[in-house]
Amino acid sequence: MMICMGSKVVMETNLKEALKQEAANLGFSVCGVAPVQLEVRREYYLKWIAEGQHGNMAWMERNTERRLDPGLILPEARSIICLGLNYYQTEPQRRGRVAKYALGKDYHGLMLKRLKKLCHWLRQRGGQNKPYVDTGPVLEKPVAAQAGLGWQAKNTMLIHPKMGNWLFLGEIFTTLEIPPDEAVSDHCGECTACITACPTEAITAPYQLDARRCIAYLTIEHQGAIPEEFRQAIGDRLFGCDECLDVCPWNRWAQTTREEKFTARQYPDLREMLAWSDDDFRSHFRQTPLLRLKRPRWLRNVCVVLGNIGTLEDLPALEKAANDPIPLISEHANWAIKQINHREYLKFL
Ligand code: SF4
Ligand code: SF4
Repeated sequence: MMICMGSKVVMETNLKEALKQEAANLGFSVCGVAPVQLEVRREYYLKWIAEGQHGNMAWMERNTERRLDPGLILPEARSIICLGLNYYQTEPQRRGRVAKYALGKDYHGLMLKRLKKLCHWLRQRGGQNKPYVDTGPVLEKPVAAQAGLGWQAKNTMLIHPKMGNWLFLGEIFTTLEIPPDEAVSDHCGECTACITACPTEAITAPYQLDARRCIAYLTIEHQGAIPEEFRQAIGDRLFGCDECLDVCPWNRWAQTTREEKFTARQYPDLREMLAWSDDDFRSHFRQTPLLRLKRPRWLRNVCVVLGNIGTLEDLPALEKAANDPIPLISEHANWAIKQINHREYLKFL
């Protein structure tokens, strides 16, 4: 292939090899190519939406046909390049857990910047390209599975055979015709560890997830009060849940990410957070995935966690929160107070 680089013309024999090398140079952990015409679980997806298992994620109802047929997203595209970026790290020891993907700075900007650099590289080779990082109607896991980045497992996540579950995903739709990679076969076998470990029975059967029961959904996507039936099961999870990922045996080779931006941030204790203003909330969570919750939903989650792990020392801060004018905060603070008092009462029985 002839490549135009300013006034220089360079010869390149194997576009896919060169692409993967360039992706690695840009810091991506894995890169694969999927065909534009590919299989997704059409029947399952349509039933899942029809039954409302996506909860209030209304955007999942839109552009259904394009989601199920990536060929409709960019009709002139001939290949989909899938990129993964490892974000694995161990969690800091503190009261209240945050899912690993959200421990550091938000990944979207970093991923998009690198995808755009790769688009520029592809353009030099004659490609018209469109990058996506959660920005379009792309079912990223089945597409990544077709690109050989792993298999979509019983917990519905993508598992890379060497890196495990811990990959941020992005895609580039390109007009370049690049030979697709081979899909990885399903390696879950007889294992059901993720299904057993799920605290809310959200994995209703292998490869099936009811988002309405999932702690990641309840603590992040869900807008209103957290249904009481799930509050205890949430335990000390403030934002998201890694339970079905942590137990997966395919994570045993996971390596700590090299991205400094993903380094876990430090936060004050939960008790102090209860007194935060909107400005405090914004300044502590600037540029992180936690910012999207806004203060009322963050404090809702803090109250649920304190209701599960809090002590008598947390009561004064919770009592103040119980007088918050925002009902979402006051109701959850009152619930937390009751839970702590109940635990204390049981100690004397
Ligand atoms: S993220 Fe947590 S709640 Fe959701 S399916 Fe996995 S283990 Fe269950
Ligand atoms: S825990 Fe077991 S069943 Fe679940 S995704 Fe991992 S290998 Fe598959």
